[in-house]
Amino acid sequence: MSKVPELFGSMVFNESVMKERLPKDVFKALKSTITEGTALDPTVANIVANAMKDWAISMGATHYTHWFQPMTGITAEKHDSFITPGAEGAVIMEFSGKELIKGEPDASSFPSGGLRATFEARGYTAWDPTSYAFIKDHTLCIPTAFCSYTGQILDKKTPLLRSMEAISKQACRVLRLFGKDCKHVTTTVGPEQEYFLINKSDYAKRPDLILTGRTLFGAPAPKGQEMDDHYFGSIRPRVKAFMAELDEELWKLGIYSKTEHNEVAPCQHEMAPIFETTNIAVDHNQLTMEVMKRVADRHGFVCLLHEKPFEGINGSGKHNNWSISTERGENLLEPGNTPSSNAQFLLFLTAVIKAVDEYQDLLRLSAASAGNDHRLGAHEAPPAVVSMYIGDELGAVVDAMVSGKTYHAAEKTHMDIGVSALPNIPKDTSDRNRTSPFAFTGNKFEFRMPGSTFNVACTNTILNTAVAEELRQFADELEQAENFEQALSELIIREIKAHKRIIFNGNGYDDAWLVEAKKRGLSNLASTPDALPHYTDKKNLQLFTRHGVYTPVEVGSREEILLEEYAKTLRIEALTMLDMLRKLILPACAKFSRDLAEGVALKKQIGVDAPAEVEMVRKVTDKTAALCAAQDVLAHKVEAAKDVLTEAFAVAPGGVGARKLSRYYRDEVLPAMKEARKLADELENLVSKEYWPFPTYSDILFYV
Ligand code: ADP
Ligand code: MG
Repeated sequence: MSKVPELFGSMVFNESVMKERLPKDVFKALKSTITEGTALDPTVANIVANAMKDWAISMGATHYTHWFQPMTGITAEKHDSFITPGAEGAVIMEFSGKELIKGEPDASSFPSGGLRATFEARGYTAWDPTSYAFIKDHTLCIPTAFCSYTGQILDKKTPLLRSMEAISKQACRVLRLFGKDCKHVTTTVGPEQEYFLINKSDYAKRPDLILTGRTLFGAPAPKGQEMDDHYFGSIRPRVKAFMAELDEELWKLGIYSKTEHNEVAPCQHEMAPIFETTNIAVDHNQLTMEVMKRVADRHGFVCLLHEKPFEGINGSGKHNNWSISTERGENLLEPGNTPSSNAQFLLFLTAVIKAVDEYQDLLRLSAASAGNDHRLGAHEAPPAVVSMYIGDELGAVVDAMVSGKTYHAAEKTHMDIGVSALPNIPKDTSDRNRTSPFAFTGNKFEFRMPGSTFNVACTNTILNTAVAEELRQFADELEQAENFEQALSELIIREIKAHKRIIFNGNGYDDAWLVEAKKRGLSNLASTPDALPHYTDKKNLQLFTRHGVYTPVEVGSREEILLEEYAKTLRIEALTMLDMLRKLILPACAKFSRDLAEGVALKKQIGVDAPAEVEMVRKVTDKTAALCAAQDVLAHKVEAAKDVLTEAFAVAPGGVGARKLSRYYRDEVLPAMKEARKLADELENLVSKEYWPFPTYSDILFYV
């Protein structure tokens, strides 16, 4: 490997490249667009575009694309080459400011949730200059936002950028009350990415993995993860080679890949990057997932990003580490060293506590999908109930505040939030609670519900907007206060008292917690069809519109798209199961029992009884019959889904139909899938290995 500092960002049109390739005044104009959001004038855009193109060509690029994040969750791109006809049949390489700033992909094939009829399919992408352009596969990729022609958003990035503006505005108001002149506040995110690596040859033999990303059949292997021998275990050489190349590829793209380790489940690993400004962290995480898949392929692996590729084995999540910091790099969730900075810290902490309590439904639904439903609430990932862990020390501080008692820290200090007399808050001392969905980890919060395939733009849009709203309320109140210190103290105590129910420092995997959570009035939205309809609750629509993040129509379209995606996912899974049953599993079972029966008959001819084999034939035959019946039930349920949808749409088109359909898949199709799987897995344990038509869990998970 060449030297890392030289490698890092070598495929990125970053600040140092800009400085080198742009005239001074152009660089300055672009810089102010990046940091302050000022509009770029067309002549400047032309010069930037030309410099970008020259740089890209010097790096071997021939094409460019507006790279964007439609509602499908993956990133989309449409490649155009730089060529333009020149004189005498030659070509010249061109790229204009107009092409840089705006693209017009056909929007009709991207989900819009009723926002845009196909006949008015025009959509356009707009350059996000705060996220650097980069080169991938000989293509200059320009990060962009994606809107419909009428300006309604069709992607995940636009609302995220809007939410970042919202929280910046409100946080600056609050900071001004503390005497700080602050122009811009950003949220930061470090998404830890979990994934599985399996052999390509095994993957190729499993239609379920190919079509759905997870195994729809598979009896548990004799060994699971009970020995805990994989977590942080030494990394196998082939995996190590993969990780080394992954790091290198990510570094080239300017992604701070920092930590790589094995996870709890066999074949499961994690990559944690160093945190960045939220929209860039999201772009980089989208890229990371793509690069992981490509590098895996070069090493004979397939990278599985699904939340639950194997039943009975830990699934994969994406821990969303989140904080807020000022333009000068002051982390607003870092407990301070002086009483006054502690008061400020406590105010921001209170805002997050209030936000998580009041918008627990939104946070929950930001992690809702068919895949993640297999994970949330299983005893490996947080439950579907949102709660917060703030640690023992901070918990004691909060307790003392609400009860007006003395806080017993190392030195006894009376708890008074007045700016002049706050004790030092000890930093990140207690044991980290791994079971909490939303944990304070010293100077940031870690939201652990999102699934491994997720685009965390949605989660962060919600988090930013919810906290922005609380900060707005706080600023409104405190700006009017005659005695700031007293008002601050009263506000913090009042709000913590009001929202203390969301704080839970115990074991989130314990069933007793669900009972307790219910008593506290916390919502428990167990599945995706339960969670998503809360998108359009009145208080949530108010939140989004007040901060200009989504219009009500845009929220409605998101709910509809995601519910439809849920139903479609289950439909594909059910159809894949039926296909595997008919073409692979049932024929294998039939053949095995027939061969056994032939053996029994042959033995009988020479006067040998074979009672054990007869019993096996009977067992396999009976179970095969049961499986056939289960398959019929499943086929029938999938078929009937059509009528459910038609009926629902006849009554109420749009969102309501999607709600109904998603519940139908959850309540009717999913149980039928489970039943078929149970029988097929039992048969896997009865049928000889040489007859079984695809690799088993033992084959896949313990290949070394
Ligand atoms: P773990 O959760 O495994 O204990 P760390 O505490 O080292 O790991 O950090 C996890 C992630 O949190 C990393 O991606 C890191 O960059 C990120 N992180 C650290 N500080 C911040 C911050 N201020 N804002 C957002 N993310 C952060
Ligand atoms: Mg973590």
